Amino acid sequence: MSYLVFARKWRPQTFSDVIAQEHVTQTLRNAIKTDRIGHAYLFTGPRGVGKTTTARILAKALNCETGPTPDPCMVCEACKRITAGGHFDVLEIDGASNRGIDEIRDLREKARYTAAEGGYKIYIIDEVHMLTREAFNALLKILEEPPDKVIFVFATTEPRKVPATILSRCQRFDFRRIPSSVMGTYISDEASKEGISINSDALTLVCRASGGSMRDALSVMDQLVSFSGKDINGESVSRLLGLVEADLLADISVAVLRSQGAIALDLVEDALVRGYSIEELIDALVGFLRNLLLAASGAEKGITDLSDSEIALVRQTVAGVSDIHVLNVLRLLSGATDQIRTGASPRISLESALITASKLGIAFGFEDLPPVVERVAVVAVKAITKSEATEVDQELPTEQTEKTERDSDSSSDKTAKSEGIKLEESVVSPAPPQPVSVDTPEPEDEKKEVKNQKDNNNEREKENSVVRKVSGLFDMIPENR
Ligand SMILES: [Zn+2]
Repeated sequence: MSYLVFARKWRPQTFSDVIAQEHVTQTLRNAIKTDRIGHAYLFTGPRGVGKTTTARILAKALNCETGPTPDPCMVCEACKRITAGGHFDVLEIDGASNRGIDEIRDLREKARYTAAEGGYKIYIIDEVHMLTREAFNALLKILEEPPDKVIFVFATTEPRKVPATILSRCQRFDFRRIPSSVMGTYISDEASKEGISINSDALTLVCRASGGSMRDALSVMDQLVSFSGKDINGESVSRLLGLVEADLLADISVAVLRSQGAIALDLVEDALVRGYSIEELIDALVGFLRNLLLAASGAEKGITDLSDSEIALVRQTVAGVSDIHVLNVLRLLSGATDQIRTGASPRISLESALITASKLGIAFGFEDLPPVVERVAVVAVKAITKSEATEVDQELPTEQTEKTERDSDSSSDKTAKSEGIKLEESVVSPAPPQPVSVDTPEPEDEKKEVKNQKDNNNEREKENSVVRKVSGLFDMIPENR
């Protein structure tokens, strides 16, 4: 027996098997019952939620030997062949690789002939938004005068890219992301039929990682079974997906919220030793802080995709902490995320952001942080990165040669560092005049320009005063800057 991936093995075969899309399947069933079948359907929605699967079931419902019927028999020749993907009159076309006018013209030619097996001819075009404009025009011609018993099902993740002329000729169905609870039940039922046991923590993690896409969830399940056999627990999911464990995130959060920056940095070290990347860590931490914020502000409904034990952990972490306190730490860390992800020294950036976050409460009191808190970490991080970089790299080229060098070779390590410094300067120092523009601006524009410049300067001055206050804690940026 050949090995089938779960996404194929567990694919729904009838309308009632399709989960979380009852608003679609019910309407299609009714249309078949009342003999009001459209010529063209547009199935939209995120990937992996059942669009193509539903299209195939519709094809079966129409071409079943007992049909058209809302409940295809599954045993007749037509049902079997559609299930196996070998039916002559059910054609699946990938819009991404058949996007040109020639393919659609060819389709138009063939659509004229009646179905070889006497039933309906069904064209399922996946990712239809990928078609070229000319191809859409050719398609429109068919839709304007659709041949008898020819049905189109267009599936797309991006309906906005489908021309209005096409949209207006289709019955549109919006497929939804599959809610975690529904997905979890489905997966654990199907898994148990295979003798696979998956505990609730693991199920939560799989559903969360899928982002509501059943296809993604099932491909994780395939990997999990290869990885850890028929007994799947939360730890194996975390290890497979590189998910940062909630305990670790809680410990780091507690350290930051209690102004214990050193402890937070020790935990970061532990996490890196265990193989997590800086990016995984900051993303998970920001996500965790969001949940803390929701819990601290009493909006627990918004906490989704967490297992019961994780929710308990979140509650425990924020016990006695004010929501504004959590909010400011979250704002600061998410403000520093870009710098951490793309800067030259991600680890230093992460560490300094954590230290900054843990010191903010001391500097300002958490209740009255300035509105520019997101920028604080960015600037502080850059200042710290700068002092590291200059220590390491004393022979920095002068600004002029540096510019040309950067233009000619942007990939060198040295240039990356100089880039960091350049950015930092442009944020911290008062804005230098920008005499680059060649066109002379109109006086009105000029006034606006001056006003904008002023606003920018004010904004910058506000930031700088905050930065000075924060940096005073570290002795990083000279007070007189
Ligand atoms: Zn049948």
